[in-house]
Amino acid sequence: MTDSAETQRGFDLHTHSVFSDGTTRPAAIAREAAELGLAGFALTDHDTIDGWDEAREAAEAAGIDFLPGIEITTKQGGRSRHLLGYGISPVGGELFEALAAVRRSRLTRAKEMVRLVAEDYAITWEAVVGEEDVRTVGRPHIADALVAAGYFPDRSAVFTELLHPRSPYYLGTDAIDTVEAIRLVRAAGGVSVLAHPAAFRQRTPTSAAELGELAQAGLAGVELRHPEHRDDWMPPIIAAAAKLGLEATGSSDYHGAGKPNLLGQQVTDAATVARLRAGLATPR
Ligand code: AMP
Ligand code: FE
Ligand code: FE
Ligand code: ZN
Repeated sequence: MTDSAETQRGFDLHTHSVFSDGTTRPAAIAREAAELGLAGFALTDHDTIDGWDEAREAAEAAGIDFLPGIEITTKQGGRSRHLLGYGISPVGGELFEALAAVRRSRLTRAKEMVRLVAEDYAITWEAVVGEEDVRTVGRPHIADALVAAGYFPDRSAVFTELLHPRSPYYLGTDAIDTVEAIRLVRAAGGVSVLAHPAAFRQRTPTSAAELGELAQAGLAGVELRHPEHRDDWMPPIIAAAAKLGLEATGSSDYHGAGKPNLLGQQVTDAATVARLRAGLATPR
């Protein structure tokens, strides 16, 4: 946990709403962030920006700062990498074509996974995509349908027992090459930050060499503080980030009731947010 003084000034730069796999609306995140005394927050739904308008409006009403963001599904050399993009232009372009393709692939994959799961558990596609605002469907939605049907106590239990990558019900999904995604974020006027480089569910952490490749491609920062990090994996990443001159961010990866992560659990200081913003083509 951060101390309260840091929470006061801090920004939570990684949150999810019902537009992807969070369980709360963008406006509710804004209100909760204001109640916590955060300086501001970024909405970073997976592969969609459709929650931005609601989040921005609610942040303005609550008197806190809003940084528009996204968490992009990418792959670096075959390994899954989540790339946070901040301040991208919402007006069309190559990035949005690539994101639409990722969402289409996710939809096909989720339908096929539901078909497999439904052979053994009584769930329907309608139950999986019950939330009308969901734009990016994933394993969490399948998990929530299984929880609602009474098979498992919570989302995490479904992942542990049924939807992990070695499960017979698991299918992969298309992802954008990470280096290409960094280029697309840049071309859309934004800055990119590598999400959770040492999350404990990954088989291995992002290596210094891999981080170097991403920095070379234009990566602006790396999420050094994240509730799911393995501390013993962090020292080489911290050293590489410093050597490469990358910004260091901290965020909660809040998913509402979908994960134990608490809003504001990790934060980024205002000076770092200002430097990230200075890298944007247009102030946002
Ligand atoms: P997908 O992108 O569809 O493969 O699903 C990955 C998403 O599932 C991540 O963005 C996480 O939010 C969520 N997730 C992964 N593991 C867990 C877990 N053990 N408990 C809850 N959510 C998880
Ligand atoms: Fe997620
Ligand atoms: Fe992620
Ligand atoms: Zn996330």
